[in-house]
Amino acid sequence: MLQAEDIKKQYDQSIILKGVSLSVKPAEMVAIMGPSGAGKSTLLHILGTLDSADAGTIRINNTPVHTLSKNEMADFRNEAIGFVFQFHHLLPEFNALENICLPQWIAKKDKIQAKHYALELLDYMHLADKALKKPNELSGGEQQRIAIARALINKPAIIFADEPTGNLDSHNAQSIHELFSKLRNELQQTFVIVTHNEHLAKSTDRVIKMQDGLIIA
Ligand code: ADP
Repeated sequence: MLQAEDIKKQYDQSIILKGVSLSVKPAEMVAIMGPSGAGKSTLLHILGTLDSADAGTIRINNTPVHTLSKNEMADFRNEAIGFVFQFHHLLPEFNALENICLPQWIAKKDKIQAKHYALELLDYMHLADKALKKPNELSGGEQQRIAIARALINKPAIIFADEPTGNLDSHNAQSIHELFSKLRNELQQTFVIVTHNEHLAKSTDRVIKMQDGLIIA
């Protein structure tokens, strides 16, 4: 599902990624761990096309993303990639249902179809009764599950998650781990997750350890 070869990245005089290669299979859930400053988020952003590498190649679902133009990249990102961040980034003026629909609206998909699928996702997350709630009327765990539903609505090839449980208490963190595992098992969803959470890492298929801009294990 993902093949990255020899990814390099430098900011000013600092070399952040020194040649990182990794592959992720369909329906595989991979955790990236390592000390702060190792380059994990930089790598995740580059793999997710939110930032560009100085060198290296990336294929996602057989698309060589490093060759795409800026506009092609934006379309590809919206259709093929889901993101979950530490902070949910839900839009406060939209309700849960509308927030989940946003990537479908951006992709100019049928609005009724989008609403149906968003309602299905809400149901799947046991949040059907929260459809019309604004983000500030939801708990932290509920907000994060809405953000995950938003990441899923375009049926992405891969979801990149950056510290998805970093802002949650252990109970809510556990329910996010269980949700990710369920999505992997039932929907064959592929994940790459940057995390410091040992429990979350243990529930994945494989842990990649990074240090000083390199994969070390
Ligand atoms: P990690 O996620 O492993 O904590 P990061 O990828 O966030 O590491 O950061 C790696 C290094 O890159 C850090 O030293 C950070 O300060 C630096 N860095 C990250 N983004 C930028 C940027 N946009 N400009 C300059 N330096 C950056």
